[in-house]
Amino acid sequence: MKRTGIFFIYFHGERLKDFPGALEGLLDKGNVSYYDAVYGSCDGLYCLEPVAERLLHKVHSDNMITGVKHTGDYEAALYSAGGTVQAAEDIRQGRIDNAFVFTGYGDHHAGRDFCHGMCYFNGAALAIAMLKEKGVRRFAIVDTDSHHGDGTRDIFRRDTGVLHVCFCDQDYSDAYHKIDIGIPSHTHDEEYLAKMKEVFIPRAKAFKPEYIFWECGYDATKGEYGEKGISPDCHIGLARLIKTTADEICEGRLITILCGGSTRDTATYTIPRIIAVLAELNSGSPMA
Ligand SMILES: [Zn+2]
Ligand SMILES: [Zn+2]
Repeated sequence: MKRTGIFFIYFHGERLKDFPGALEGLLDKGNVSYYDAVYGSCDGLYCLEPVAERLLHKVHSDNMITGVKHTGDYEAALYSAGGTVQAAEDIRQGRIDNAFVFTGYGDHHAGRDFCHGMCYFNGAALAIAMLKEKGVRRFAIVDTDSHHGDGTRDIFRRDTGVLHVCFCDQDYSDAYHKIDIGIPSHTHDEEYLAKMKEVFIPRAKAFKPEYIFWECGYDATKGEYGEKGISPDCHIGLARLIKTTADEICEGRLITILCGGSTRDTATYTIPRIIAVLAELNSGSPMA
């Protein structure tokens, strides 16, 4: 059974109002660890640390870091990205196998010298910078947020050690393992899942990453601001496919990063079920 780390940070706003309460039923499982961000004081094994400023400078420009300092959200942004970095490090050290990171201010719209959409720092890129320092060389990032992961693409544009497969509004493919898959509106779950099977999974198998990062937005769900027609259950189906792929090709090393999505109901329904998939617990999903 895989050991799953949940990295939780409290944020304002509607969408995560039911958390961490909605994780009840998962937290008492022996293979699930819960890391909490306690601002200012934390001494236990499972506390979430802010990302080190030293690491920020490996990914983002001085200008941009200074800009985020002036937003008033700097500390929260450090914790938000810190969850992803810590998840990667704890997987590397063998304390957990995979992770779900609640991200409030990150990820895929944060580039080297720009950020928008409340994505102040790029947690996946920071985690990859940290892992590279430890000798890890190959990474895959799969992005199922409705929008193009422009920040992630900017950072890794010419990095042949990073496979970036992004489900968004355009079709694109280049020699640096950077791929976009255009998802039309009114896409059925089966069609979306088929694209994951046809486009990402074979490429990941050929690329042989040591870690997989999943930029897991749910804003392509019906009724959301990036609506593409898929149902909440599609994300649980995606979790199964991506987790199985990670198990097959990189010993299960998978870091799931919460990206876009605004509705509380969808968050409360899908996130615990995705975590149940990661931890190999019965999710009760009709897509099982
Ligand atoms: Zn989005
Ligand atoms: Zn894209």
